[in-house]
Amino acid sequence: MQENTVDMRSQDDVAWMEQALEQARLAAQAGEVPVGALVIRDGEIVGQGHNRNLLDNDPTAHAEIVALRDAAKRLGNHRLGGCIVYATIEPCAMCAGALIHARVARLIYGASDPKAGAAGSILQVLNHPELNHKMEVTAGVLAEKCSEILQDFFRRKRERAARNQVDKLS
Ligand SMILES: [Zn+2]
Repeated sequence: MQENTVDMRSQDDVAWMEQALEQARLAAQAGEVPVGALVIRDGEIVGQGHNRNLLDNDPTAHAEIVALRDAAKRLGNHRLGGCIVYATIEPCAMCAGALIHARVARLIYGASDPKAGAAGSILQVLNHPELNHKMEVTAGVLAEKCSEILQDFFRRKRERAARNQVDKLS
């Protein structure tokens, strides 16, 4: 019985993560680092977004922040208790801080971020023992897909830069 419940939930997690990946794809199309995020409450999307640092000239416009702002606006509340956030990669320190300020109940992320992850990879901001707010964290949902889209993006970027270099020299 218990196992069935867990299975249902992990199926939901995969389905929502596919939607977060859709956001990441939109970011890539706009030339932004492909990271996407969703905020879910009572089984419905109440916020979504992707990285828009370049589009908005905004160093804080990470997918998670964009999605949290979207949800807070829609719900008319800066506290998002009872909300679940899906992010295609492990949140950075800024986004982890925002998730805590928003009092998010649960975070599910795809790929770990060994360079900036603040859910344990390089920092432990989420569920830090000194902080009051605790959230449930599930890592590794569709991790490969979430990391592939980033790797593809950076590979293409390097290839373009190399081609431009060749063009300049010839
Ligand atoms: Zn971030």
